Parts: sequence; C-alpha cells; structure tokens
Amino acid sequence: MKNEENKFEAVRKKLIGMRLNLIRESKAEIVQILDAGGKYNGVSDDGDLADVAIRDSLQAANLTRQRFKLKAIEEALRKIDDGDYGICEDCEEDIPVGRLNVMPFALRCIECQEKHEMTSSTKKEISAHSSFFPEEESEE
Ligand SMILES: [Zn+2]
Repeated sequence: MKNEENKFEAVRKKLIGMRLNLIRESKAEIVQILDAGGKYNGVSDDGDLADVAIRDSLQAANLTRQRFKLKAIEEALRKIDDGDYGICEDCEEDIPVGRLNVMPFALRCIECQEKHEMTSSTKKEISAHSSFFPEEESEE
C-alpha cells in the first residue's frame, strides 16, 4: 500500500501547489472587492456605475470558477488519501500515472475517456469542464 501512495506523490504535490495558488488568488480577489467598498461613492454618472457593475460581475464569475476548481482539487486529494484515485470510472483499470501527472483531474483512462466523449459530447458539463481545465485538451 505504501507504494500506491508514493505513486501519486508528484500528482499530490502538484494539486497542493495548485490549491495554494488558488487560495492566494481568491484571497487577493476578495481583498480587492472589500477594498473597493466605497467605490459607489463618487461615481458620478451611469457610465461609471456600469463599469463598476461589470467589474463586480467579472470578479464574482472569477470567484465562482476558482471555487469550482478548488473543489475539484480537494476531491482529487481526498481520493488520493482514500486510495480511490487513479482508477478509471468506467473500466476500473488503473489510469497511467503519466496521464495523471499531466491531467490530475482525469477520471477515466484514455480509451474510456474517448468513448465517453463520443457518446456524451453534447453534454454541457463537458464543455464547461474543458474550459475550466484547458490543459486537459492538449493531450495527444
Ligand atoms: Zn477505462
């Protein structure tokens, strides 16, 4: 069992690093929002107000995306701890570690992923997922 744990050590470190970065980014974002508390004072015309509102919604969208990603990271780390990580959801074979190093959120082996994408390519879930983790699309 010790070997199994070590097998994912690189992935685990990568995930922890990603989580740290995300938390730092989210904090910076929140501080920015809080700092801008008085922003509606001194806004003189509707144009300025619209700018502020657009910036707010962008920041909110950013935070939502970060939270989503953070959840995926937590999930992967939990799976590593539970020993459920790196097992294909469909065929239950081990996903090659090389694939996991590149795509820490891979849920399936390459074969099953390809089948899955062919059968459910119209699902919204998939396209949303791809844009959150664009690095997953660059796989050969
Ligand atoms: Zn599989």
